[in-house]
Amino acid sequence: MATERSALFIFFGGTGDLAYRKLYPSMFNLYRKGTLQEKFAVIGTARDKLTDEKFREKVRKSIGSDSKEAEKFISHFYYEAHDVTDQAHYSVLKARAEELDKKYKLSGNQIFYLSMAPNFFGTVAGYLRTEGIVNDNGFSRLVIEKPFGRDFESAKELNESLAKSFKEEEIFRIDHYLGKEMIQNIEALRFGNTIIESLWNNRYIDNIQVTLSESLGVEERASYYDKSGALRDMVQNHIMQIVSLLAMEQPVAFTDSDIRAEKVKALRSLRVYNVAEAATNFVRGQYGAGNKVKPYREEDNVPADSTTETFVAGKLMFDNYRWSGTPFYIRTGKVLADKFTRVDVVFKKPLVDIFAFPGSTNTAPLDTNILTLYIEPKAGFALKINAKNNEQGFQTEPVTMKYLVDPEDSKKTPEPYERLIHDALKGDGTNFSSWQEVSYAWKFVDQIRHVWDLQAPNFPNYTPGSMGPAAADELIERDHRSWVYKLNK
Ligand code: NAD
Repeated sequence: MATERSALFIFFGGTGDLAYRKLYPSMFNLYRKGTLQEKFAVIGTARDKLTDEKFREKVRKSIGSDSKEAEKFISHFYYEAHDVTDQAHYSVLKARAEELDKKYKLSGNQIFYLSMAPNFFGTVAGYLRTEGIVNDNGFSRLVIEKPFGRDFESAKELNESLAKSFKEEEIFRIDHYLGKEMIQNIEALRFGNTIIESLWNNRYIDNIQVTLSESLGVEERASYYDKSGALRDMVQNHIMQIVSLLAMEQPVAFTDSDIRAEKVKALRSLRVYNVAEAATNFVRGQYGAGNKVKPYREEDNVPADSTTETFVAGKLMFDNYRWSGTPFYIRTGKVLADKFTRVDVVFKKPLVDIFAFPGSTNTAPLDTNILTLYIEPKAGFALKINAKNNEQGFQTEPVTMKYLVDPEDSKKTPEPYERLIHDALKGDGTNFSSWQEVSYAWKFVDQIRHVWDLQAPNFPNYTPGSMGPAAADELIERDHRSWVYKLNK
């Protein structure tokens, strides 16, 4: 049984898609595992008018169980109709919070989860403090969903407004990629293995490739997505987080402050491109028609002349001793060939191929060693190495050593949101984005955006079911390299 944690949760946007689909089921998992037992209570708030009973009914449906255990869990849920812009109404929330704190013996511990449009984040954080809902007895933590701003300036403004009410260590900025099992495994693999970490630098690694490929289109998120685009929606947060975990130096210890310090240091040495560099090192795409998918511009809530990118590929360079000269290639997009996230670490070839002497029968050149981290949907890793094949004569060929998490075991792997809520309860910020990380990521991404905004793109430029526009291949081929994951054409 896990250690019991106590807190009052207030979910703002408590009737939203994310709350019902991810947050409440994750809370239920924490309840089943014992992290939540008797000493917790939940207030769901939103503008909808619901009774506690009606709300519990919806929560019951969302967790998909009406077992005895589920009923006990749901009995801790309460509902308060509350418009977050209505300052006077926070007193009602305060009274409810105090009553539940006493009833469940919560020692003043509070988690405020903002699962709603980001333009409300500052307002809610401010009123929580000014209207006295935040108390000084236990901990008070603010969990906020993405996006954190739409550029550096807006992110800074948002951060300043949050900072008036909450300290940095009380703010938990969700990046659900950081809750994924294999993302957390990057640190275990790197810092738990001499054979990996000793080679993890520009002397032995030729390049690193990060691919976040989505097979779906924008679905019902079109109106949001069209104002965001792939660069803001995927690169600024998820990809930059993955890249900083891959690039960072070894932290002093596996603690949130040590890890954050190293991630920030890595991001500080990421080269921020000038106009010419940004134009050469990043490409964008938008999908047209094909494979029974309608073009992006014909999606509901997307303007017919939208220039929003649904695909990004780019090359990142770190100007530091470890990575100087070793590029990190990234790509992400919608309606691509498949849904997966992976990292391919491409090692340099042996300096001399002793098997290729004049007259050698070994006709195949040595292949590069590649360490692939499968992030999702399958989780695990593979290492491609050269070996002798088991036939007559001497012929080398690449073989792959593979470890994949057993699908049965991965069912036991906690969902990212379960892990992240658990971390917030413990006060562990390792798997959340710090303000400094967010700000460096925006400064990098803003430069790309700035250059793209100078010129209208020639969209659409890729077909659904492909791996993006031809320019994404050209980007890497120009450097005499190629994407490890390719479509078998
Ligand atoms: P949603 O539109 O389904 O829910 C929004 C919630 O906010 C609803 O409960 C609504 O009643 C409430 N709300 C709106 N205006 C309000 C007001 N003035 N006062 C009080 N309540 C108000 O949104 P969602 O999909 O659940 O997303 C919530 C947040 O999570 C957003 O920041 C989104 O970017 C982020 N997010 C969502 C997902 C997802 O899968 N849905 C994934 C990642 C991040």
